[in-house]
Amino acid sequence: MLVTKETPTSPTSPGHVLAVLRAEGPLTRLELQERVGLSRVTLVERLDLLRRLGLVRQAGHRESSGGRRAEMLEVNDTGRTALVADLGQSHATLAVVDLRGTVFARDDHRLAVRHSPQEVVPMLLDAGKRLLERTGRADTLCAMALSVPGQIDHERGVTVAPPTMPDWNGTPLRRPFAEVFGVPVLLENDANALTLGDYYAMGRPDATLVGVKVGTGIGTGVVISGRIHRGESGSAGEIGHMRIEGSEQQCSCGRRGCVAASASGQALTRILRSTGVRTIADVVRRVDEGRGDAVRAAAEAGRLVGTVLATMVTIINPRYVRVGGAIGVLPPFLEALRRTVEANAHASALRSLDIEPSQLGENGAFVGLAGLVADEMLSPATVDALAAALPQS
Ligand SMILES: [Zn+2]
Repeated sequence: MLVTKETPTSPTSPGHVLAVLRAEGPLTRLELQERVGLSRVTLVERLDLLRRLGLVRQAGHRESSGGRRAEMLEVNDTGRTALVADLGQSHATLAVVDLRGTVFARDDHRLAVRHSPQEVVPMLLDAGKRLLERTGRADTLCAMALSVPGQIDHERGVTVAPPTMPDWNGTPLRRPFAEVFGVPVLLENDANALTLGDYYAMGRPDATLVGVKVGTGIGTGVVISGRIHRGESGSAGEIGHMRIEGSEQQCSCGRRGCVAASASGQALTRILRSTGVRTIADVVRRVDEGRGDAVRAAAEAGRLVGTVLATMVTIINPRYVRVGGAIGVLPPFLEALRRTVEANAHASALRSLDIEPSQLGENGAFVGLAGLVADEMLSPATVDALAAALPQS
């Protein structure tokens, strides 16, 4: 039996018309009519519904051959608002964005190392309400999205937290936010959110992209032909817990010899402790200042991550690798990573490979989360349900 969770939508439904416009717009009405294969009258009806939902708008004119100016249409992805939050092991950042990822306001909180969900969730709820008030966009809020370290149990809406955040294991994250904000709540792994941010910012290429995030821990996201690949239990691409031969360093996951135990931000903080380093920000500052011990440690970390990334590149054969996170974008780390991948991955996988730092900086996860919200809220099934609920005009 074929089991599908998606509501079947007609290929000519309002949601489908919007999907075509989203993928190929801006388009004139005639171009859109040709793409979706609807009569002029029916298309006008569909567009009227989409306008009433605030989902399409005019996008200037195109000169046609006869000197007539044809009105162009595009998806209105700036009229709706999402509340997005990036939760890390030592920070929580919230932002109010539109579905294109434009950030209207953000709010940064530093967290104590052993923060519990009982403290952080109410704080995020409060901060979210205040941000929405400040931006005046509360009445266009359509969804919330949250990125967290560790894996997500998407069915149950809970997090399978990393061992360094034991209190978060099994925490229901969807429910408290859905209750307060009254909108759907999406959850995503933090490295996946960052990878999706790069993917959307690149204009959604029909290509395979691997995103590597090296901050406190090490995470990877894999986008295969436009879809994030999460794996059976959401742990696809956990290269931080691949083993380095010969290493016995204790890892936070309970095993020994993982890459993360020697090459994560947390590991670098430990390695450089005798030089006065206490935080990841200290590591970054010392590398920026060109201190020899910090630069060497960052380069060694890049080499170690590059070793496992080379294996991943050989297996997946991506077109793009984007490296982000506070440690990942440090030049000595990135140069050593690139050199190691080039020395170890299969030659044919290297031929079209493009390794660059993530360009999105601090807003990377927000762009990814906004794109996830857009994919969900502008999907044919969601749009058709909204259209069906409109009062008859
Ligand atoms: Zn480990």
